[in-house]
Amino acid sequence: MTGTRVLVLNSGSSSVKYQLLDMSDSSRLAQGLVERIGEQTSRLRHTPLATGEPRERSGPIADHEAALKAVAEELAEDGLGLDSPELAAIGHRVVHGGKHFTEPTVIDDAVLAEIERLIPVAPLHNPANLTGIRTARALRPDLPQVAVFDTAFHTTMPEAAARYAIDVKTADEHRIRRYGFHGTSHAYVSRATAELLGRAPEEVNVIVLHLGNGASASAVRGGKCVDTSMGLTPLEGLVMGTRSGDTDPAVIFHLARVGGMSTDEIDTLLNKKSGLIGLCGDNDMREIRRRVDEGDEQAKLAFDIYIHRLKKYIGAYYAVLGRVDAVAFTAGVGENAAPVRAAAVAGLETLGLAVDDERNAVRSDEPRLISPAGARVKVAVVPTDEELEIATQTYALVEGNRYAAPPRGN
Ligand code: ADP
Repeated sequence: MTGTRVLVLNSGSSSVKYQLLDMSDSSRLAQGLVERIGEQTSRLRHTPLATGEPRERSGPIADHEAALKAVAEELAEDGLGLDSPELAAIGHRVVHGGKHFTEPTVIDDAVLAEIERLIPVAPLHNPANLTGIRTARALRPDLPQVAVFDTAFHTTMPEAAARYAIDVKTADEHRIRRYGFHGTSHAYVSRATAELLGRAPEEVNVIVLHLGNGASASAVRGGKCVDTSMGLTPLEGLVMGTRSGDTDPAVIFHLARVGGMSTDEIDTLLNKKSGLIGLCGDNDMREIRRRVDEGDEQAKLAFDIYIHRLKKYIGAYYAVLGRVDAVAFTAGVGENAAPVRAAAVAGLETLGLAVDDERNAVRSDEPRLISPAGARVKVAVVPTDEELEIATQTYALVEGNRYAAPPRGN
């Protein structure tokens, strides 16, 4: 008998998020989060879905190895231990797969070395992802471990979209190009949108707006990404919670030459102190909307800048695709903030885009249409599920390998 469970791990520098899924019916068995790894105040929050009752542990968890061992103990307590034959594989979210990784990939030493080689283009994320993989491999060396890359879905972008217009030799030497991120979400949501429309992904052109704390847009033609708003790093594109998104690159020279700021200070400014938080001091859209409703001018300006950028990308990707069947909103803001959705498509009726106020106001965890009945371009809210997508891709790969024909001899 072979297992059907997949453990999904998303390892950050000081955190590990995890879910255990059963792929026989795509159900969730347990989920949790270890935070503040390496500090005195580490915390593990674990929820077995059978009871839905969360359990918490607090106190120092020294490193990722200790974190994963603690997770394994919690799972074992629910009879879901990592030593169970039911566990088929571990799927790891890996942020940067460069040009090389276009598909989910079974991890071996060569794959680890390639992920490591990409650290210069993903200095914040890939080292943490690698630590997670190494720890999980040490814990279950016999188990297939699969890397699912945030960049993979975007590797279908044509060169015209992926290349920056900078000196080719320099760009190639430093592997500078638009890679895109949130790919697992864009893949899942574009497919789920086609399903919502009752059509095959190959027939449908979709603009996906992933609006979480990080935010990105993608243009998906017939199931394949043809453009996306994040670039070499997740800094480019839309206005985000704490990231600026698009700016004139000369802002950086100016801050260095005239503002006397160091490269690291500018990096922190644009990645952590800009976007909504830089504009109005809040990065939570709920708080910003509350302030807007109270007449707060600064919050209103931040909201307007956010929407202006979003609308520009909808227009740009409409032009890239030529024909758009649906615009799909997803992630924390996209799934929950009706005013954002309404404002983003306001005034775009001549493009066939509109939101029905009553439908837009409905709160639900299900994929749904919010455009008026009979609209030419459907506007949808499609909750993302990156863990399910990682588990699905991981399981499909492991299952496929299991049944793959053995090499032909003579
Ligand atoms: P990430 O995975 O990038 O951390 P999420 O997709 O979880 O982000 O989105 C988080 C954001 O979603 C929050 O910062 C908040 O702005 C927004 N959000 C969550 N719930 C709501 C809501 N009910 N209304 C408006 N915005 C919300």
